[in-house]
Amino acid sequence: MTQVKEARFETLEMKRQHYSMIINGERVDGAETFTTYNPATGEKIATVAKATIEDAEKAILAARQSFDYGKWKKSPINKRSRVLNKIAGIMRARFNELVELEILDSGKSLSAAQGQVMQAIEDFEFYAGAIVGHRGNVNNVPGQFQNVAEKEPVGVCAQIIPWNYPLMMAAWKIAPAIATGCSIVVKPATLTPLTAIVLGEICIEAGVPEGVVNILPGAGSSVGNYLVEHEKVDKVAFTGSTPIGKNIMEKASQTLKRVTLELGGKSPNIVFEDADIDAAVDGSLFGIFYNTGQSCEARSRLYIHESIYETFMEKFVEKTKKLQLGDPFNKTTHIGAVISEEQLKVIDGYVQSAKEEGATIVTGGKVAEIEGFEAGYWYEPTVITNVHHDMKVVKEEIFGPVVVVMPFKDEKEAVKLANDSEYGLGSALWTKDYARATRVSKQIEAGIVMVNCPFSAFPGTPFGGYKQSGFGRELCIETLDLYTETKSIISYFGSRPLNPFGL
Ligand code: NAP
Ligand code: MG
Repeated sequence: MTQVKEARFETLEMKRQHYSMIINGERVDGAETFTTYNPATGEKIATVAKATIEDAEKAILAARQSFDYGKWKKSPINKRSRVLNKIAGIMRARFNELVELEILDSGKSLSAAQGQVMQAIEDFEFYAGAIVGHRGNVNNVPGQFQNVAEKEPVGVCAQIIPWNYPLMMAAWKIAPAIATGCSIVVKPATLTPLTAIVLGEICIEAGVPEGVVNILPGAGSSVGNYLVEHEKVDKVAFTGSTPIGKNIMEKASQTLKRVTLELGGKSPNIVFEDADIDAAVDGSLFGIFYNTGQSCEARSRLYIHESIYETFMEKFVEKTKKLQLGDPFNKTTHIGAVISEEQLKVIDGYVQSAKEEGATIVTGGKVAEIEGFEAGYWYEPTVITNVHHDMKVVKEEIFGPVVVVMPFKDEKEAVKLANDSEYGLGSALWTKDYARATRVSKQIEAGIVMVNCPFSAFPGTPFGGYKQSGFGRELCIETLDLYTETKSIISYFGSRPLNPFGL
């Protein structure tokens, strides 16, 4: 056992059996609860208040009230910046607790959880700085006119979060929204509600006024949908699957809400013949198997130049077999659990469909049995070859530790294959040729291109998709524009009165 496991819940504040909603600055419980489980063990972790439509109504009204009449949006930017830094400070002080809670609720590995909690902290620090420099502009207008374009917070935002990065996705949404002065209702995923609830409590502890941050655990199909349809909500920021994203966009159109969507992906990973093969092998492994493949930008389509295909695959498969599955709290574990039994079946269904369509399972391809974790949900890291672009396993997002591999002949074919997808979120290239990297980057239809690099996001780097991977960018300065409206003020203080009709 690692030290972290032994120290689990040493600080007892988080050892709770029950987590409440946060509405109008208070912990609130209603008539209903649901249970959240540890996917690595199948064990119950805690009960959580399950928001009803009445709770959602209260949360929206609290947010509306705080936005329309409260102090937060009018507070000096320096004050909001200070509060964001304070949130980050409290998170830093409670780093181990947040890591532990994230591992328990999602089954992810220690190293993945540590990286994600740290990034969530840095997101608040990033926006604490970025908001200070965020501003409108002064535009050239004729004569004695003036034009000032000001940024105003967009209003009440519904923020709907998936289960794959529970805390990090909450940070990506909460930090820029409250930095700009918006009020929010956050709906965490039913499978992983805990760290978002704790983050909401931390926001209040740090001085965010009541009603500005409301956390509403509950079902997407009821309270999630209610937020999207509600006329008092001005914006919906959604991260999740493409089908639900389409549904949200349609419903939000009824009241013309502002919408940003971070959706699914099927990201290509291209290894050219001049790449550093060992770096490409290691980066490609991380690109697909990090977070158990449950990443929207997982590089799940691997294209290898035919001249290096054999050499690359030998190393890639050998290292895939070395990946350690097991106790998520163990430092040496690479791959944690799959989020749920349902998702395990979805993953296996894709692998079976590949077999039926004639593909070859080179390694993995089945549910994994992990000693001591028999009741959890585990899948072997899986490499599939002999595939073509009409197969389901190549076209659709699997959201698990499964990669399909194909050879290509030349750069033109690589670009064509990479772009042959309805998605356009991430992509990766491995080459030592700068000219080629530049040329190919410009042709790839994706919001993110990683060149000789397995990492897709740092605080400050724009994150978001082309095509059916959604629109809007998170994690960057541009995000602040998406939480604000621009108000153009045209004024005249000239010496002569204006008399445009000449009357
Ligand atoms: P999901 O099923 O679409 O759910 C996402 C969130 O939406 C959950 O909170 C869910 O609530 C809620 N929801 C479900 N139906 C809803 C409805 N009708 N109205 C409003 N909200 C509703 O996605 P997921 O399975 O949790 O997450 C995996 C997906 O997210 C993948 O496709 C992945 O690619 C994508 N993702 C994208 C990014 C990105 O930045 N592009 C990042 C992470 C994940 P419940 O929990 O109650 O179902
Ligand atoms: Mg859970």
